[in-house]
Amino acid sequence: MTSAASEEACFFVEFKNTNKAAKNDLKGNGILVVKYDNVVLMNMDSKSIGKAKITRGEAPANAVDGQESTQKITMKKKEVFFWPGNSVQLGTKAIMIKFAVPIAEFHSGKVFYRGVKEIEKQHVEETKPKGKNVGKNSIKSASGFVTPFKKNAVVKKREKLTKPLHNPRAPGAVVLFQPTDLFSVNKIAVVVDPLLAKNLRPHQVDGVRFCFECLAGLRGYAGKGCILADDMGLGKTLQAITVIWTLLNQGPTGEPTVKKCIIVAPSSLVGNWCQEFKKWLPDMIDPIPMGDANKKKVNAALAKFSGHAYNVKNNVLVTSYDQLRIHIKSILKFKDIDLIVCDEGHRLKNSKIKTAIAVNSIPTPRRLLLSGTPIQNDLEEFHAMVSFVNPGILGDIAKFKRLYSDEIERMRQPESTPEEKTVGRARASHLAKLTGEFILRRTAKVNQQYLPPKVDNLVICKLSDLQAKIYQSICKKAQTVIFQESGRKGRETSTLAAITHLKKLCNDPSLVYEEYLENFAEEKKYNPDAYQPQYSGKMQFLDGLLAGIRAAGKDKVVIVSNYTQTLAVLAEMCRIKKYAFYQLDGSTKVSKRQELVNMFNEPNSPEFVFLLSSKAGGCGLNLVGANHLVLFDPDWNPANDAQAMARVWRPGQQKKVYLYRTLSTGTIEEKVFQRQVAKLSLATNIVEGDTDAVPDFSKNELKELFCYKSNTISDTHDLLNCPCAKAANKVPLHKRQAASVDELKSWEHYPDVTSEKMSRFPILQKAGAKSVSFVFLKEEDPKANAKKTKQMLLKKEKLTFSTEDGEDGEGDYSYAEEESEHEEKEEKEKKSKS
Ligand SMILES: [Zn+2]
Repeated sequence: MTSAASEEACFFVEFKNTNKAAKNDLKGNGILVVKYDNVVLMNMDSKSIGKAKITRGEAPANAVDGQESTQKITMKKKEVFFWPGNSVQLGTKAIMIKFAVPIAEFHSGKVFYRGVKEIEKQHVEETKPKGKNVGKNSIKSASGFVTPFKKNAVVKKREKLTKPLHNPRAPGAVVLFQPTDLFSVNKIAVVVDPLLAKNLRPHQVDGVRFCFECLAGLRGYAGKGCILADDMGLGKTLQAITVIWTLLNQGPTGEPTVKKCIIVAPSSLVGNWCQEFKKWLPDMIDPIPMGDANKKKVNAALAKFSGHAYNVKNNVLVTSYDQLRIHIKSILKFKDIDLIVCDEGHRLKNSKIKTAIAVNSIPTPRRLLLSGTPIQNDLEEFHAMVSFVNPGILGDIAKFKRLYSDEIERMRQPESTPEEKTVGRARASHLAKLTGEFILRRTAKVNQQYLPPKVDNLVICKLSDLQAKIYQSICKKAQTVIFQESGRKGRETSTLAAITHLKKLCNDPSLVYEEYLENFAEEKKYNPDAYQPQYSGKMQFLDGLLAGIRAAGKDKVVIVSNYTQTLAVLAEMCRIKKYAFYQLDGSTKVSKRQELVNMFNEPNSPEFVFLLSSKAGGCGLNLVGANHLVLFDPDWNPANDAQAMARVWRPGQQKKVYLYRTLSTGTIEEKVFQRQVAKLSLATNIVEGDTDAVPDFSKNELKELFCYKSNTISDTHDLLNCPCAKAANKVPLHKRQAASVDELKSWEHYPDVTSEKMSRFPILQKAGAKSVSFVFLKEEDPKANAKKTKQMLLKKEKLTFSTEDGEDGEGDYSYAEEESEHEEKEEKEKKSKS
């Protein structure tokens, strides 16, 4: 039971004199009396041997509910907490509070003549029945106050901390290190900055703790490096930022663990890293970008980075692999780089390339490698990456091959003997155990087990007659112009322009009307400046959908588009329909974004629609205030679409979620989507995070792309050769196989939205009556699934080295190859430029 707030308390303690000069009272048991604003330490002869005033009392009242023998002391109108396991520095004495003693026993003096053994015995007896409940955590909880002798010296001058930088007892505090042995050098609790802690999801807390323990050298293997290989979407960046920020400010000894930190990332992500830092730690850190080849900028960046070793603000340099390689000599002059973080770290899988050599030459043992792919599929690459983070831990490559990879490979062969299988398996499991100490990989399922049900709708919308006409004219022009164009550059440019026009046209004809005006002068009724949803199939559907959702209740909607111009059209729609809305795009100030999000998520705020540019969206945005999301146009990069959808279907979402992807029937949009599903070699784009890139197409692919299929209800459905629709087009087998959209076979098919079958989804049915030609639909309930399959509840993916020949995802392998080709290409381009 928690005792009510009282003004006095008494504890049985153990103390040690930390002043080496002192001869008496080096170590012993004693009684600590807390009285008003004083703390008095007495030895067991009731002699006062230490005193202090209490200076800190911000621990909140609800932090201790249900904790046995916690004492709440009111001092100067504030409350201070004491609890077993709490350690206190009192003058020259380190004190460990063992347990509370009734204050009456102090008043009566009984506590002094009963003797240590009897006090302890009585305590054990009193707490026996509830002994089980005193978990690790209550002991682990951290210290609350310090003596007043070093007032506020801590943060500003960056002297050695004498108390935790953040309150480890605050609700939601994430404590990464808790001293258990007061007498060792590691005696200050390390607590994640609450600014960051409040944003961490449970698996991220685990990830941060894992990386911290590795990098601080607390996990006991020979090294201080680690690999965080979580699936995309699990927030590796936030985890890394949290670890970096913690290490820059804190350490178990009270000193910051890291003075300067370098982050190496693909050049396109350098800016993103800086933004993320500023987003999570506004005004607290100003990371220095060095992704640009411009010499002046590079020199300025390096000069800034050379600032005072304890100036946390400028102690993070974010650079690209290229720039790091080029300027490695200058970088090596910095003596206090204590941490290097490599984003998309599988780039270091070949230890012989110059980039890897350069990164490796930075002498710090603290190395954090981030990777979004399973890394254990190719054992030699695996060796390279592990050896980068923890040099020598696997021995040299020859030894590694002998010991592990040869044996594991042998086991994988179909003709391997039982004996070889046994040895191979044992080696694989040993390797997994050894490296599991510093490699953490979680799959996206981690997040999903807590999520509400979701309905995925792939809504195929007919083009309006006007759209169809313009569409055909663009295609015609593209087919002739593009294939006459002789220069490759010229072809690329006009292809790209035509693709963009088609995609915009699918959204709304007003977006390209100007360019193609002469082709449809007869459309007199059409006014590109007015809101006329009937001229765009998708707009017409959206119009109906919003009306239906609005009429049905209080649900809110996020609408995502790749084009700011499309958002402008949608904003106009909201104005006309009198839907209160917010819009977040590239022009929205970063500082303003969170504010918009917060206001929108407010359950009673009047805003019904949130218009979001997929490029400005980023991964951090949390829009759980809405439970409908419309992905108005598809992106070439499936990861972007997946990220957009994760804005609403994410932890914190309470309602059933409805996702609508709208695609125009028989158009390029279906092709983009098919490409997404087939995951056709978009690896490079995913890695680079390049959202603008249109994949390279062969001439034949281009021909297909600029071809409008006007006679289908869904080009994608045609590819499935599914009998559900009467009017399905026949597609030759080889094309069907190449498209590999078979995943959609397991979805529900609705060739006719007006059918009885669709009446389960009345809003969709009504909205799509005129404009929708086909719907693919999939319902999912992760909670129900999780109950069924324990697999999904596994938090950490076990690091395994597959035992079956060829079982390992081939996709990952080809992915890796493309990656290195890309780098080679980059290098070649560099050379030809210089
Ligand atoms: Zn079908």
